[in-house]
Amino acid sequence: MRKLLPALILCVFFLAACGSLQMSGEIKAEPVQAPQQSSSVSVKPEEIVEQDPDGAEPAQTPDPKATIDLSKMPNEAGKIMVLMYHNIGSVEKEWVRTPENFIKDLTTLYEKGYRPISLTDYVTGHIAVEQGYSPVVITFDDGNMNNFEYLEDGTIRKDCAVGLLMDFHGKHPDFPLEATFFLDGRIPFRQKALISQKLDFLTEQGMDIGNHTKTHENLKDLTANGIQEQIGAQAQFLSESIHREDYVINTLALPFGGRPKDESLKKYLATGLYDGLAYENIAILNVGWKPGYSPYDLRFDRESIPRVRASEMKVDQVGLYNYIAYFDKNPRERFISDGVAEIITIPEDQKGQIKPSAEKEIYTYSPIQKP
Ligand SMILES: [Zn+2]
Repeated sequence: MRKLLPALILCVFFLAACGSLQMSGEIKAEPVQAPQQSSSVSVKPEEIVEQDPDGAEPAQTPDPKATIDLSKMPNEAGKIMVLMYHNIGSVEKEWVRTPENFIKDLTTLYEKGYRPISLTDYVTGHIAVEQGYSPVVITFDDGNMNNFEYLEDGTIRKDCAVGLLMDFHGKHPDFPLEATFFLDGRIPFRQKALISQKLDFLTEQGMDIGNHTKTHENLKDLTANGIQEQIGAQAQFLSESIHREDYVINTLALPFGGRPKDESLKKYLATGLYDGLAYENIAILNVGWKPGYSPYDLRFDRESIPRVRASEMKVDQVGLYNYIAYFDKNPRERFISDGVAEIITIPEDQKGQIKPSAEKEIYTYSPIQKP
């Protein structure tokens, strides 16, 4: 235990340093010495348990590292795509994907080894994707009816986003049903009588609801009160519409990607108070245009998460298919899971860009170059 104490203090110090960097909004890629050079520093309670007093075989926790197949080239310092969709419709447009093209996207992602995770798991770094596979986050903005529609007979329209996602998941159970719908306004998904039914259904299925503000206003010119009303009132409305008491609305997609111009008001995107109720956002999403950093990367900022346009029209070389091709060409840039949520596995030479972690063990290896 005595050996662990200085290490703990170090961890706390580095975490504090890291926190203050984030607060000041600075991006610092300079290598920070990871205090846990070896696995011995990772403080896991099970490692400090006393010997079994009965003298029986001590309950050995098998080393989870043993299950990691390094030939799959895990790289948890790599980047992750957060895909941005808006509409599903019969005619392809800049902000509309046809059902066929949406299926093509899902199929391509599936075949290329991408697997959906929730936005919350991304920002909290709880990534348990099967080893050798890459996480991807799916998001839809604006809550149009083509995202989620019930037909008169009570069934879900097959070619709305939810219908298509569920069908794809049914055919490919190893492609989890994970997506976040960012909703603005008072009639999300545009069927007034079915608001709660839809929100309840989505959250029961393990999908997520995020905040897209009360009236889809650009937050850049609003006052402190205006911003808090846009975010707080919508968080309250959505929470009240979901019957599950424990479901929290704590992710925000910025309309038009707009942030307050006044520096002192930016804090209200993450936390604020409206009508006596506090809100907190653990993830704030932008509109464009590139994959996000690994949540373990020093540069990762959960309050400014970029998204990739999931489209093929007017994407200026920064659309979904551009990045799929980019990752095919540059596999070292891509997040590849080690399959163990509590271990961060990275190639040795990427160690410098990883945040020291008190909860997770950082496991580095030297990738063997194939002749
Ligand atoms: Zn929007």
